Amino acid sequence: MMPSPVKEVVVISGKGGTGKTSLTAAFAFLAQEDIVLADCDVDAPDMHLLMNPRVEMEQDFYSGWQAEIDCLKCSNCGKCQEVCRFSAIIQSNECFSIDADECEGCGYCSFICPEQAIQLIPRLSGQFRVSRTRFQHKLVHANLDPGGENSGKLVNQVKQVAARIAREDSKKIILVDGAPGIGCPVISSLTGADLVVLVTEPSLSAFHDLQRVFNLVNQFRIKTACLINKADLNSDISTKIKAFLAENSILLLAELAYNTAFTAAMLKGHCILEEENTSFQPAILEAWNKIISLLN
Ligand code: SF4
Ligand code: SF4
Repeated sequence: MMPSPVKEVVVISGKGGTGKTSLTAAFAFLAQEDIVLADCDVDAPDMHLLMNPRVEMEQDFYSGWQAEIDCLKCSNCGKCQEVCRFSAIIQSNECFSIDADECEGCGYCSFICPEQAIQLIPRLSGQFRVSRTRFQHKLVHANLDPGGENSGKLVNQVKQVAARIAREDSKKIILVDGAPGIGCPVISSLTGADLVVLVTEPSLSAFHDLQRVFNLVNQFRIKTACLINKADLNSDISTKIKAFLAENSILLLAELAYNTAFTAAMLKGHCILEEENTSFQPAILEAWNKIISLLN
């Protein structure tokens, strides 16, 4: 019998601060061990703060190039410094050297060096990890160093490894915490998704970003649902968001009232469903059940 295909749910929000990661962690909590979790917010990953994972595999991520000078070959002619448009070559006591933060890896210095003293080496741009959460999910996550290039490539690597683990461990769902915004990492997050869950809140900026991110998702023709967090903070905008969802055939998964438990849980490094006496558990459970139905 053929194994059933792994389904991929990507949770995104056009704007940061909507509770996207808290809700993704809550869905992971409900799914128990049936899922592989992937944190694709590689510029500011925070799923690990809620999941307190034990790292099982870690490797460096290289992207792009940077120049390196071999001082033993260098004749101190200074030609490389003259041509570098990024002022990345500095002269220290005995030799010229590269300021890695400034070097753009263009290779011009290497090309003109009369002594062949400069080579381009892969640039260390971040770290990549596979971990086991305290709820026993496999979590694939990564972080891009400040100024590191190619977050889309790193997101793609996170997703590919999550997919491989899901196949090997016979998991049914990959649950992806996507990046905010509409840039390259989000586009990489969306590739191959079976369902996108948009998390929003009733503010003008969040509504505007919801429309922008939906326009992006719509180009991929992916099934889409939405969850409105803090829905009671502005009922007028919540009403407008619901009208927008209806116009675009986007299923409303749930409306959650503002609740300080989100912040309290985050400060404790908890999943929100671990908090006691909160009113939103049934709505989150219902939202997760709707997600499962949509996947089926
Ligand atoms: S161009 Fe080459 S030889 Fe000249 S200073 Fe630069 S590294 Fe040294
Ligand atoms: S590779 Fe380009 S940016 Fe880097 S030091 Fe050489 S000339 Fe400057």
